[in-house]
Amino acid sequence: MYSFKINGCSGRRNWPRIEEYLVKRIVVVQQIIERSVGQFTPTVQAMVDANKKEATDCVVEWIVGSLYKVSVPNKVHCVANMDRKECGCRMWELTGIPCKHVVAAINYMNEDGKRSWCT
Ligand SMILES: [Zn+2]
Repeated sequence: MYSFKINGCSGRRNWPRIEEYLVKRIVVVQQIIERSVGQFTPTVQAMVDANKKEATDCVVEWIVGSLYKVSVPNKVHCVANMDRKECGCRMWELTGIPCKHVVAAINYMNEDGKRSWCT
């Protein structure tokens, strides 16, 4: 059994409240997923759309193998490793949602014809 504190209270007596919260949360998320029309939930779809829009400002350079340098004007560049599904900003690893750098790299790969990412 885990020991933790919530609102200054500690111990096992909070466990039923946490279980109840988690069950309710899972039900709400499941309802959102069932109502979703597309491939993603509305929140994720909004994030993907925003990343697609921001990716148009990025400049991509192929480095070697599956590494791409993605530069954003007036910001530090990121290196995206497409095979390992990692980006320098770490958003891809943290959320599982491709960041603007990765979306730009995918667009570059598809335009360049070296490799089709979406097959
Ligand atoms: Zn990134």
